[in-house]
Amino acid sequence: MFDVLLRLQDLDLDIETLKARESEIPRQKEKFAIHRTRLAAELEEREKAYKDILVEQKDCETEIEQKQAQVTKYDLQLFAIKKNEEYQALLHEIDMVKKQIALKEERIITLMVQSDEAKARLEEDRQRIDAELKDIDHQCAEIDTELEEAVRERERIEEQRKPIAAQVDPRLLARYTRIRGSVKQGPAVVALNDEVCSGCHMYVPPQIANEVLAGKKVHTCAHCGRLLYHRDNVENRAADA
Ligand SMILES: [Zn+2]
Repeated sequence: MFDVLLRLQDLDLDIETLKARESEIPRQKEKFAIHRTRLAAELEEREKAYKDILVEQKDCETEIEQKQAQVTKYDLQLFAIKKNEEYQALLHEIDMVKKQIALKEERIITLMVQSDEAKARLEEDRQRIDAELKDIDHQCAEIDTELEEAVRERERIEEQRKPIAAQVDPRLLARYTRIRGSVKQGPAVVALNDEVCSGCHMYVPPQIANEVLAGKKVHTCAHCGRLLYHRDNVENRAADA
């Protein structure tokens, strides 16, 4: 009576293991998603650092142009000035603006060096990040393949299970199914070793043990609710724990 049911249970336990893997496998991809986001943020930061330098460089150039235009304007105004004081004041003003221009020109040189460095670093980082992303893609693809294999394997076992389930007495199958649903994990049918339930390691009453050994009646363990069988009533089960 239990032979077929135990074969069914073996398949169900395999299915259970595969289902657990099916929900576990995609979780491996979560850490890759986090890594991917971090890499994207890193690249964005590097790009921004480079862009910021170029923007400042452009701003300096614009300012220099404006200041040079101002110097040209002041130079023309000098001709029209009659009073010496005003003339000196404007000369001073021109001098100030020229100094500002010189400072901006110095800044541009610094920025040019910085932008070269930032560009090189960006290029380096881009290559490294690209390689890391490719590696992540590769590992994710492997995970997908692993998942597909687990699903295929489970479907194969589920197909294999159908004719075996059909061989089990419907009432016993219903009981088994209900118990499997409530134990959630592991076997629903367990061996009785002497008078001990191998599911929960509790003693069962001697009369129950005797009836299980006799194999005439189907009993469940009063402690854990699992179906009990005795090895003597089952073929090829000697090696099982
Ligand atoms: Zn038990």
